[in-house]
Amino acid sequence: MYKILKNIFGYDSFRPQQEQIIEQIVHKRDALVLMPTGGGKSICYQIPALMMEGTAIVVSPLISLMKDQVESLRANGVEAAALNSNNTDSVNLNIRKDCQLGHIKILYISPERLLLELPHLLSCIKISLFAIDEAHCISQWGHDFRPEYTQLGQLKELYPTVPIIALTATADKTTRDDIIHQLHIEDAKTFISSFDRPNLSLRVYRDYNENERLKVILNVISQYNNESGIIYCMSRKITEKVAMKLRKAGILAGIYHAGLPAAERDRVQEDFINDRINVVCATVAFGMGINKSNVRWVVHFNLPGSIENFYQEIGRAGRDGLSSETILFYNLQDVMLRQQFANESGQNKLNNDKLRSMQNYADSRVCRRRILLNYFGENTDCQCHNCDVCENPPKQFDGTVIVQKALSAIARTEQRIGTNTVIDIVKGTYSPEITSNHYDQLKTFGVGRDIPGRDWHDYMLQMLQMGYFEIAYNEDKHLKITPLGLDVLYGRSSACLNVITDKTEVIVKKKKSKVHTEDVALPFGPSDSGTEDTVLFEKLKVLRKELADKQGYPAYIILSDKVLHLLATIRPTTVEDFGKISGIGEFKKDKYGKDFTKIISQHIG
Ligand code: ADP
Ligand code: ZN
Repeated sequence: MYKILKNIFGYDSFRPQQEQIIEQIVHKRDALVLMPTGGGKSICYQIPALMMEGTAIVVSPLISLMKDQVESLRANGVEAAALNSNNTDSVNLNIRKDCQLGHIKILYISPERLLLELPHLLSCIKISLFAIDEAHCISQWGHDFRPEYTQLGQLKELYPTVPIIALTATADKTTRDDIIHQLHIEDAKTFISSFDRPNLSLRVYRDYNENERLKVILNVISQYNNESGIIYCMSRKITEKVAMKLRKAGILAGIYHAGLPAAERDRVQEDFINDRINVVCATVAFGMGINKSNVRWVVHFNLPGSIENFYQEIGRAGRDGLSSETILFYNLQDVMLRQQFANESGQNKLNNDKLRSMQNYADSRVCRRRILLNYFGENTDCQCHNCDVCENPPKQFDGTVIVQKALSAIARTEQRIGTNTVIDIVKGTYSPEITSNHYDQLKTFGVGRDIPGRDWHDYMLQMLQMGYFEIAYNEDKHLKITPLGLDVLYGRSSACLNVITDKTEVIVKKKKSKVHTEDVALPFGPSDSGTEDTVLFEKLKVLRKELADKQGYPAYIILSDKVLHLLATIRPTTVEDFGKISGIGEFKKDKYGKDFTKIISQHIG
């Protein structure tokens, strides 16, 4: 297995658990593997597939995922193919023939197709193992339930001696048990990796208006030199609006949401994967089929509905292990809209609870990574030093009087006003609603003039989240004071508020795409290795793009960004040294070694 790891995939060592998982499968025992996105699940079944006799059958829910995996394997010289409805009949016929001749080591297949092929193709070839990718799709408790997956329970009955490996990046305890139960792999060993993604920075910007959000995004785009990024938005309309604004600023931005025709969506996805566009403005509909390893940043333009969604979506950044940026924007309006969705969802309580956890995350004053890991059951008291809270521990102050002013406005209007009216009252604004209801006669009118309106919005959000008032959705979103709020209003307890940080201070710092030192510590290379030659990097990128276009592959399939950075750092000038770079196997060494070392030699001069 070490030989395959080195020769085919070009890596020197396994990541935690990979080795044990591979051993489990090779010994024909079942396994359930939970690893975060980018954790390295694929080689856990690909290496056994190459070690064992016969063909490995990999069930995958999406054609684009299969395509990506097959291209990556082929780019490493492995015989892999995908049977699916996108292929012409003759292509599928050839794949079938190749399988029967034993030429295909790894066959990707959709669950529907697998069921159709059980009595046909699968009955006449030798099967080494079954890998069930995105295994949470089998469970109603998972978030991408696919009815076809439930039929996969037959596999164990039909092939009791063929090992099954189920893999997923998201599964809580309920879903995990359900996967094991439904696949009839009760004896499977479960392997759970840390869900931490230390290379992803975590930042939350609160109460930014649309223009401010766009400014931050444009900043990120330029810091990352137009490398790929995704912007998740709450609605189709917002995706369109954001994309328009970015295009006006000269950014190649695409739009992706469920309201677009399938062909258009596929085109956008392909353009993104192949670096023809740099940014996709998308709803949650986007991403399931995206294996692109060099997504450098993910922005949430609005608050997501749950931490599960959030974590999965930011997980699409930095799969190659390089530093990547994630940014979450949110304001009170986001929260209210999300609450409305949750209330209308039919699973009212569940979705409101999930939303509350998401909000707590966004609002928290503890290390954000700690909260995320704790949420997924990985208890830790880490201080990650790669989130905005760790970088900038917030100050608090005694905000009792501010809270009392707002609550008093609510109380004196018999709790029949919404947020904006509260702010108009405390700010002393003569809006039509204020004058027609004579709110300007209230004792509270204008008592908060000294605080800017935008700060009031921020404090109101804090108060909502601290539970001082609730929003009555069934009463025109009027605010209702809670018992906790009454305690503050009547001076029985005090309230702490976070100091609002000055937004102009928040500058998104460029994160150098650092490569890990263990990858650089190779027993060769020029003595000044360790610093990257950025000009060379750009040259290598151009060459990579040329090679990619020639073969019809996405650039990151040829060589990952991480490998490219290593090349620009170590600058090997012989094919042999080129082959020693982490991530370059025999096949790629022979295929690309000459081209790349030529550019490097020329560059060094
Ligand atoms: P997942 O399917 O879990 O999201 P992948 O299998 O696509 O993740 O792996 C993510 C990246 O990590 C890939 O670029 C892969 O080649 C790389 N990788 C996997 N295992 C190792 C390893 N042992 N050493 C270095 N890189 C690895
Ligand atoms: Zn932190």
